[in-house]
Amino acid sequence: MKALVFERRIVDDIKIAEYKDPEVRSHDVLIRVKNVGVSPVDYLTVTLLNVNPIPHIPGVEFAGVVEKVGEHVKSVKVGDKVTIFGSIFDGTCDMCMEGYETICRNGGRIGIETNGGMAELISLEEKYVFKLPEEYDWKVASSLPVSGLTAYHSLKEAKLHAGETLVVFGASGGTGQFLVQLGRKMGAKVIAVSRKNWLKELGADVVVGYENVEEVVKNYTNNKMADVVVNSLGSAFWEKGFSVLGNKGRLVTFGDITGAEVKLDLRRLYLSHQIIMGIFRGNRKDLLELMELCKECKIKVWKTFTLDEGRDAINSIYDKERDGKIILEVS
Ligand SMILES: [Zn+2]
Repeated sequence: MKALVFERRIVDDIKIAEYKDPEVRSHDVLIRVKNVGVSPVDYLTVTLLNVNPIPHIPGVEFAGVVEKVGEHVKSVKVGDKVTIFGSIFDGTCDMCMEGYETICRNGGRIGIETNGGMAELISLEEKYVFKLPEEYDWKVASSLPVSGLTAYHSLKEAKLHAGETLVVFGASGGTGQFLVQLGRKMGAKVIAVSRKNWLKELGADVVVGYENVEEVVKNYTNNKMADVVVNSLGSAFWEKGFSVLGNKGRLVTFGDITGAEVKLDLRRLYLSHQIIMGIFRGNRKDLLELMELCKECKIKVWKTFTLDEGRDAINSIYDKERDGKIILEVS
């Protein structure tokens, strides 16, 4: 099979290579990869994270068609459209027993601690493979494992209720687009913080730039401010995010793209009964629920690349002109 591979920790080292087809053991599912979602995680996979094995095939979120199954596989069959659960878990630790496979004590990530989906084929244990309804759009399907799941798990953990106000920072990114749509589906009023007006087409009630967000949230909520704020942009936008959180508000973060260290006004936190929560992707049960919820979800795609153009795809992640998601079309 053909695969994107890197050995040295620079994006320019990524190249297409001929690889031995993956082995399919009795509990494994062989997937012919259709689409791969490309995100900052892929850039970090190449440049920074501890990956295994080396040379390494990146790709943390993808979807495809079942090509072959091992003799004990029951939940999917050849020809099924599938997406993946991307957190490696053992199923035996206390976190897994609670249904928190995403923070398994012996866990990891497909595409980082193992080879990923930027290849024509990948073989995974059945427990990581989920059958999708036939009508699923490929671009949405390949964005479910990380972008979609993180968004859904965030809103679920934050206990977003109908009628509440949700403020999404970085709303035009992969996860942001799902947050806007899922927030709306859950009955919340959604304020998208972004310069992209097309977010209204995804269900945002208001789209506002960073500089005016406080004033707009204040007016929109009649001084109550937001019930849930999702802000994964890191330290540069931390204060902005915290400033729009109201009484009993929940602030969710799952990223630190502009830095991980922030200042926190404890007085404001306790006087307003607020909660700050960290989220790392989501669990298998969340993925099942998300697949049902997201049948009509949309993804605004900025650019698509072929597998051969994988290096350009990863290089374009931090492009200033970027306007939506980046997708790798493998087959
Ligand atoms: Zn575990």
